[in-house]
Amino acid sequence: MDIVDLRPPPEVRRIARRLEGAGFETWAVGGAVRDALRGEAPEDWDLTTAARPADVRRLFKRTVPIGIEHGTVGVLGKDGHLYEVTTFRRDVETFGRRARVAFADSLDEDLERRDFTINAVAWNPLSGELRDPHGGAEDLRRGVLRTVGDPAERFAEDRLRVLRALRFAGRFDLEIDEATWRDLVASADRLGNLSAERIREELYKVLGGQEPPSRTLRLYERSGVLAALYPELQACVGCKDASGRDLWEVQLSTVDAIPYHRMVLRLAGLLHLVGWPATDDPSEVEQEGVPAYAAVGGTIAWRLMRRLKASNADSDRVAHLVAQHAVIPGPDAPDVDVRRWLRRVGLDHYRDVLRLRRAITIAREGEGSEELLQAARHIRAVVRARPALSVQDLAIGGNELRAAGIPAGPLYGEILRDLLERVTEEPALNTPERLIAIVQEWQQDRE
Ligand code: ATP
Ligand code: MG
Repeated sequence: MDIVDLRPPPEVRRIARRLEGAGFETWAVGGAVRDALRGEAPEDWDLTTAARPADVRRLFKRTVPIGIEHGTVGVLGKDGHLYEVTTFRRDVETFGRRARVAFADSLDEDLERRDFTINAVAWNPLSGELRDPHGGAEDLRRGVLRTVGDPAERFAEDRLRVLRALRFAGRFDLEIDEATWRDLVASADRLGNLSAERIREELYKVLGGQEPPSRTLRLYERSGVLAALYPELQACVGCKDASGRDLWEVQLSTVDAIPYHRMVLRLAGLLHLVGWPATDDPSEVEQEGVPAYAAVGGTIAWRLMRRLKASNADSDRVAHLVAQHAVIPGPDAPDVDVRRWLRRVGLDHYRDVLRLRRAITIAREGEGSEELLQAARHIRAVVRARPALSVQDLAIGGNELRAAGIPAGPLYGEILRDLLERVTEEPALNTPERLIAIVQEWQQDRE
């Protein structure tokens, strides 16, 4: 029997003691045990117990019914943390995600239904005993990811496990066991039943990880999952940009170069070149001042985000960043060019465009560039001068036009847009007097 100390928060021991004191066997399981065995200090400790949900609710003062039908009760610890306590379960019938579960009598049954050996290790907080019938601790030491039981069966039961396998392998840098890999690859084109939400959640978990997401994303590609779920990205694999670089590799390195808490930025980094393979002449400049591939990429990225049922806000931001990443006014650009650029990119987004651009530079050149730093400095200086970037920022509006005797009508909008053009070129013009004077001049010209 293996005895170890995994040093859980004191509340884990207290909760286990209360349950065991009432006669219910109780163990820590899942991710926390795995991560503690790896020497980390996990935050979320989940417990599994012989006690039924009603027993758990009776034994603790402050509980939250998180998923009673699945046997999960949240116990609020004195440390303010919510600990999930779940009754031993077994799968009675598995059908995709709609697995029907029943309560089980033993820990071993509960461990049996878990996906990978490294996730199927239990630890008793009171005795320190490690219960590991599938050899998960050893797999963790050897750096191997394996399903519990027959991989083909386990993947057929729940295709989400294909994505989970890749994510755990990437995150912990594990080798996927041969049989598990073979059946995983065979499952790659059978992910059709997975809901958009699950696929998106998995992608967000991959991109939200502190380890380089490229490790998992490379496995997505090698396994065929990328082709099945993200054909737009698969099209980038093996496709070269103007300087001969592989688009997929550039996107992977870009994601790695973005801090993990910036999810939208990481999505934009992953997708910023998707328009390239879809464009005949990728660097042809479009009207709105961005290259064709970037404009097309924005549209493709937006569709991909919507397919994943990502929020409108996330989809719009990612699409905008993808469309705008390609053009940054250089350090020597005239201020008026910077103001035009800011009008296009928006005050809410220009910092993200600069961050994305920095990550792309690091991906391509191995480090940030002095030129980009200076460009950013110049842009910030222009922003600090609070330039008018929309008609709302003009020193006059409809009321002032009316007061100056300009006949009201649709002309107002046009006049204000023309004024914004003038003010973009020459910010000093943005005073009521000067703007009215300009309008009156225009009126005279017209008469
Ligand atoms: P993370 O750090 O990503 O939360 P985790 O191992 O805690 O990792 P969860 O998704 O929180 O993962 O699930 C908790 C545990 O439940 C897993 O460790 C595993 O034992 C089990 N589990 C979760 N999803 C599945 C699944 N689809 N099939 C089988 N077992 C699963
Ligand atoms: Mg977890």
